[in-house]
Amino acid sequence: MQPQPALRRTGAGRLASGLAYAGFALLGLMAGGRTPLAGEPAVQRFEFVEVHMGADFRLVFYAPDADSANRAAQAAFERVAELDALLSDYEPDSELMQLCARAGQGRAVPVSKDLWHVLERSQQLAKATDGAFDVTVGPLVRLWRQARRTRKLPDPQALQQARQAVGFELVRLLPECQSVELKQPHMRLDLGGIAMGYAADEALRVLREHGMPCALVDASGDVVVGDAPPDSAGWRIGVAPLEADQPPQRYLLLSHAAVTTSGDAFQHVEIAGQRYSHIIDPATGLGLTERRSVTVIAPDGITADSLATALCVLGPERGLKFIQKMSGVEALFLWREGDHLHTRETPGFAFREVPANRNKECSRQEP
Ligand code: AMP
Ligand code: MG
Repeated sequence: MQPQPALRRTGAGRLASGLAYAGFALLGLMAGGRTPLAGEPAVQRFEFVEVHMGADFRLVFYAPDADSANRAAQAAFERVAELDALLSDYEPDSELMQLCARAGQGRAVPVSKDLWHVLERSQQLAKATDGAFDVTVGPLVRLWRQARRTRKLPDPQALQQARQAVGFELVRLLPECQSVELKQPHMRLDLGGIAMGYAADEALRVLREHGMPCALVDASGDVVVGDAPPDSAGWRIGVAPLEADQPPQRYLLLSHAAVTTSGDAFQHVEIAGQRYSHIIDPATGLGLTERRSVTVIAPDGITADSLATALCVLGPERGLKFIQKMSGVEALFLWREGDHLHTRETPGFAFREVPANRNKECSRQEP
């Protein structure tokens, strides 16, 4: 694609230039931030969006000029694409799928640093949650996707068969040679509950390495932020509500943190009047039927993403107990029982909150 300079007016009445560049789009460039002090470089706000891992990846950051902003964004997107090629469960050639192809062969397979890191974190959380978070749910996710297409629950035999290839204890990690053995044939790992958060962390890291510490990465609802925007105490982020068609009810002000919401608002299937979430309860082998969402604030994206999925399975009672002793982690549980909307949260959640004000920097979360 050739660069296509264009000018458009923003809602705030300021001029913005939108440039489409080869491989990625610079959606908005507008004068932002305060007047720089003498000797201080002026920064402008830049926003870029590309589709990666099947979802919109949005980068918002402050940079001194368009050239350095483009370079930084391109490097961040390249890193995300690299991770997708390793961690995707859709792409048959991904490193993850290559590993799965060797399941049940009685051999450990050496893996990349990235895959190792994500699997190590996954296994830690699986053990700590007694398997509520479990990346071996791949065969069950496959059945769920089939059920979404056919609007029929999997037949008991198929479910039984799939469950034989599910269980975090079937994954053996060998740290001394950074290798992984999948002990059962037909195992299929699915990193959908953790990889986005890690990719967002990595994109933010690359932006910082390119001299853009003041940045937000929004991996389709997995939001990770670095330094606060100029003249601001943090990035304002709207918390995803329980229902997909509702606006955020609460807003957070964050810097050097991550926030993620997991729930069934956007991904579910309804069969015989029952709603099944895309989040699988490994105890039943089926999608969660409780109408709930969990928003997690954590120091980084990989923690927020994986914990939100795990807490969704655990539910408010067990979930709040589980994170009680974790430092730097806050959670908000929303759930519906009949007509009642219930809320429970950690005491520190509200400390990160700010009043709603739509005119300021804001990123809306989607689960
Ligand atoms: P998230 O949207 O981050 O909560 O992740 C949901 C995705 O994680 C699903 O689409 C599956 O790919 C995967 N997944 C589903 N159930 C589980 C589970 N119990 N533990 C770990 N990952 C899961
Ligand atoms: Mg998650």
